Amino acid sequence: ASWKPKLNVSLLLIRPSLPALMRWAPMAAGPSLVPSRRRDKVVVIMGATGSGKSQLSIDLATLFPSEIINSDKMQVYSGLDITTNKIPPEDRFGVPHHLIGSVDPEAGEFTPYDFRALGQSVIEGIISRLNLPVVVGGSNSFIYTLLAERFHPGLDVFDGSGSVSHELLFDCCFLWVDLSFPILEDYLRKRVDDMLDSGMFEELVQYYNDDPGRFEPVNRTGLRKAIGVPELERCFRRYPPRRSDTWAGLDPLRRVAYEEAVREIKENTCQLAKRQIGKILRLRDGGWNLRRLDATEAFRAAMVAEGPGKGLKWAEIWESQVLGPSAKIVKRFLDE
Ligand code: ATP
Repeated sequence: ASWKPKLNVSLLLIRPSLPALMRWAPMAAGPSLVPSRRRDKVVVIMGATGSGKSQLSIDLATLFPSEIINSDKMQVYSGLDITTNKIPPEDRFGVPHHLIGSVDPEAGEFTPYDFRALGQSVIEGIISRLNLPVVVGGSNSFIYTLLAERFHPGLDVFDGSGSVSHELLFDCCFLWVDLSFPILEDYLRKRVDDMLDSGMFEELVQYYNDDPGRFEPVNRTGLRKAIGVPELERCFRRYPPRRSDTWAGLDPLRRVAYEEAVREIKENTCQLAKRQIGKILRLRDGGWNLRRLDATEAFRAAMVAEGPGKGLKWAEIWESQVLGPSAKIVKRFLDE
């Protein structure tokens, strides 16, 4: 319970050492990345928010020359980088990222069909550079629309009105990072505190001050639906924020109101994770061959670790239970 992450020492920065990673490197054979004769190969990393997908994508990119395509429907927009949890550029370790922060949120909603069209042309570009396309993000509707060969716009595979298509546009290797839900919930709640310490509140105060109309329910489309925006709306109406307001400097009266909003943000983040897992299970039960990686022990270790070297145990478990098995799966997939 004493574990208190700071965003900058979040899981993303506790990386296995390079020598540890290099143990898997002989598997990163260059010729495997040449597009297959059958269909082009794409790796897809799925999982609920907070499950370590970005970490895994960067680790895999160290082993297999890759480029990442973001499939989080909020992270495609520019703005609210802390609130939407975009991987910071310095944590990308030079790995090219696409469709992250690249869409103007004022230009209307970016739909799954927009994602399909743009995502496919990005994948073609990556393949032409002989790199491995790795799709990473929690929006399963985006992933489905990008990959399914055919789909019926009126039918939703996730509410059961449409059936899951097995025919995919690419030869896909699906990695699903999963962990015990109570541990994920614990982590997500702490991550919200961490995001607040890192400037989420100040980011939303600026966003509100730039245009208070964005918070009106009627205007709530695209980025304005990001968790954090609707929850803070009530507080902002009651106590219109000044640009100079900071999370650390809130007076006691405001703090009580904001802490209620923070509780809602935590709850809504956990609900989002639950819904995302439900959608992943729907795809798996519909016949998608998802390879599940269990990150429970790695998260458990990260959350109890204290003192010097605290990241090492976490990194060791991550490597043996998540990264190593994933690297083997991807290697086999590329060799097929
Ligand atoms: P849905 O059909 O419910 O939109 P989806 O699979 O297409 O589901 P999700 O990624 O599950 O998309 O996002 C659903 C909602 O969760 C978003 O509309 C947004 O409110 C919230 N959300 C998702 N990702 C983020 C994020 N990175 N930051 C903040 N809020 C998010």
